[in-house]
Amino acid sequence: MTHAKHPGEPLQTAHDSLDPADWQALRTQAHAMLDDILDYQQRIRVRPVWQTIPDELRLAYRQPLSTEATPLDELHRQFMHDILPYAVGNAHPGFMGWVHGGGTPVGMLAEMLSAGLNANLGGRDHMPVELERQMVRWVRDLFDFPAEASGLFVSGTSMANLLGLLVARQSVLPAVRTQGIEHARLVAYTSSCAHVSLKQAMEIAGLGNDNLRQIPIDADFRMDVTALRNAIAADRAAGLTPFFIAGTAGTVNTGAIDDLNALADLAADEKLWLHVDGAFGALAKLSPELAPLLSGIERADSLAFDFHKWGQVPYDAGFILVRDGRLHLDTFAAPAAYLQREARGMAANSPWPCDYGPELSRSFRALKTWFTLRSYGAGKIGASVAHTCEVARHLRDRIAAEPTLELMAPVALNIVCFRYRADDALNQRILVAVQESGIAAPSSTHLNGRFAIRAAIVNHRTTASDVDAMLEAVLRYGNEFTGVT
Ligand SMILES: *Cc1c(COP(=O)(O)O)cnc(C)c1O
Repeated sequence: MTHAKHPGEPLQTAHDSLDPADWQALRTQAHAMLDDILDYQQRIRVRPVWQTIPDELRLAYRQPLSTEATPLDELHRQFMHDILPYAVGNAHPGFMGWVHGGGTPVGMLAEMLSAGLNANLGGRDHMPVELERQMVRWVRDLFDFPAEASGLFVSGTSMANLLGLLVARQSVLPAVRTQGIEHARLVAYTSSCAHVSLKQAMEIAGLGNDNLRQIPIDADFRMDVTALRNAIAADRAAGLTPFFIAGTAGTVNTGAIDDLNALADLAADEKLWLHVDGAFGALAKLSPELAPLLSGIERADSLAFDFHKWGQVPYDAGFILVRDGRLHLDTFAAPAAYLQREARGMAANSPWPCDYGPELSRSFRALKTWFTLRSYGAGKIGASVAHTCEVARHLRDRIAAEPTLELMAPVALNIVCFRYRADDALNQRILVAVQESGIAAPSSTHLNGRFAIRAAIVNHRTTASDVDAMLEAVLRYGNEFTGVT
């Protein structure tokens, strides 16, 4: 360690530190990297959405780890050449596959600041934790949850669904943390269109996915509440213990929103926990015109959703909101000598975020979310949510006007499922051709046993002309493959 000789003279970098010897050179390099990634975002429209990774490139990334240093400008060059062009393309307006957010330049810059600060959001008394608490209060207010409600940033809705299920399990098995689930025969309910992460949550919680009932859906792809009531009665009659209903606000297949008020009524009658998976759909709350569709969401016991989908925050930023904050704490808080809390000093201001989930070290997800909501304004994020639904309706109307195309499900929000009037195999071929063309990237699903091309409009950059280009590509390949000219 070398020390400055005079006050004001900078400390020299210790030879084993990872800081640069030449900060000025690093700054120049850093600005070049920033410019390149801003160029990527600014000019993304002129790129293909996605392209196949060349075989040589894949192979080049199977080398053993070297002990030698590589200059930063060389790594930057490799990133630009090898990695950036072969990303999945969800920042691109032509990306309509699965349910991916587009991200924003502001979110990216916030992520940079957060990486530089390198804050650990597990706990302790510092402003980053206060910022996360501010976000928790905003989320609580947005969804009209009570003051005792608690919340936590997590990686995504898969994790948030698991946490919601674990808090619900705690509510029926208060001794579960010491005694395990013993012989509890707990049964959970969701719709046949629910996300697979709920099934995985049952597995991880030790409850078994056989005990997740997948309730049939109605013509609008919403959970059939009568069938749900009957399933609960049948399970009770068989000596099992129903405990958990997971409704969905925006299913991944079609964007359908379960009747949340009917589910809340039934959950109240039956004294069951109501969880809502609102992965992307919950943020429709930010749009005054769409918010009424979510009526009943404020009655949930727990709500899982993502800021990285419709909220456009860069990956990852999921969230779990729990009505009963005390129960949430009881589910996870774990005393340990090295995590001792104090009234003053750095170990003050308990409970900490780590008391609300299984993770101790946690990243500063709240910062990019706060920057996004503050910089654009919550109203503008809501308007972009509403805009994606408008684009989806435009696509729906265009499909309805094309005799060779068939709409496969009602368009509740931003997801449009359709197919070329031909068999499954041909539609599969069309989908791959469109993806490989680089023009657009829809994905697929099966609805009532039939293959569907699925366009989920989530990216704030996607416009009517982008879905037009996708549709024209589908028609062109469909006509070509069926020999229509
Ligand atoms: C995306 C999605 C999930 C999973 O969320 P992740 O953030 O990918 O973990 C769960 N449910 C629904 C309805 C989704 O759309």
